[in-house]
Amino acid sequence: MNYHTPESFEDAAAIAAAATGTTRFLAGGTDVLVQLRTDLVTPDDLIDIKHIPGVKQITRREDGGWRIGAAVAGAEMTETAALCADWPGLVEGMDLVGSTQVQGRATLVGNLCNGSPAADGVPGMIAAGCTVTVIGPEGAREVAVEEIPAGPGKTTLDRGEVITGVNIPPRGAHGGDAYLRFIPRTEMDIAVVGCAVNLRVDGATITHARVVLGAVAPTVRLVPEAGEAIAGTTLDSAALDRLARAASAACHPIDDKRGTIEFRTHVAGVLAKRAATIAYSRAKGDQA
Ligand SMILES: Cc1cc2nc3c(=O)[nH]c(=O)nc-3n(C[C@H](O)[C@H](O)[C@H](O)COP(=O)(O)OP(=O)(O)OC[C@H]3O[C@@H](n4cnc5c(N)ncnc54)[C@H](O)[C@@H]3O)c2cc1C
Repeated sequence: MNYHTPESFEDAAAIAAAATGTTRFLAGGTDVLVQLRTDLVTPDDLIDIKHIPGVKQITRREDGGWRIGAAVAGAEMTETAALCADWPGLVEGMDLVGSTQVQGRATLVGNLCNGSPAADGVPGMIAAGCTVTVIGPEGAREVAVEEIPAGPGKTTLDRGEVITGVNIPPRGAHGGDAYLRFIPRTEMDIAVVGCAVNLRVDGATITHARVVLGAVAPTVRLVPEAGEAIAGTTLDSAALDRLARAASAACHPIDDKRGTIEFRTHVAGVLAKRAATIAYSRAKGDQA
């Protein structure tokens, strides 16, 4: 195995583009190293991105948005009070990943690029309308997060492309988000269903909402019909019921011992209602 420590993303991309065998980028390593040690994936080229300047930085942009470097650990996000105040739902996804030890390493970008439909950090990013910056042989491009997952363990990134960081939009006034997941135990488990909701209010009326489901389809899924079900409402019980129906209708889950199709489909509606209620309350300033 060739272990590389490039000092720029351009070099990281060039190494990946020139590699002919199995290639992995090494961020926190909480997926890569587990796969390596269990002989699931043995990379020919392992490209450690942590020597690249700025890669561990959380930056508040001038427009009020945020930039999360590709090697920022989940724990560093939860320890950034202003980020938690702006985007509590996005941060609580990473706060659910693994244990304290795992959170000290696991990154948002690694969570996205591992390609799990159950990734806890991804629904909150998509609900927030985040983009990632991608550098590759053709130069740099900005891509909506929902365009990255391609199926279990797969992304739409081309050979030689590497993500430099996540761009979170400005929170703006009267917005709130939330992420909830169902697992059969209290921690250290993979989501059976996950749901993130991000919305904005004008007074008591929701003007715009994005609802995203995890673990109920081959990829994390943005469900526009679910957002439309609560836009223009005060989140009354009829709107919540419409939301639940739209969320459940978007499910195409697997059937396994951790959750039947029927169970996952039902829970998606329940979690959508609960996450929307928390996001609504945060948007109105009733709840942190
Ligand atoms: C005990 C344990 C518990 C866990 N619990 C959870 C959980 O509850 N929820 C959950 O969602 N996940 C969980 N995970 C999985 C894992 O921790 C997360 O997916 C984590 O966010 C991965 O981030 P990382 O930085 O460690 O990624 P890495 O392992 O470094 O990389 C993961 C993948 O992303 C690619 N990659 C990394 N950086 C880049 C980049 N800059 N550009 C392009 N591709 C890149 C790599 O090539 C690799 O394919 C758990 C893992 C363990 C070991």
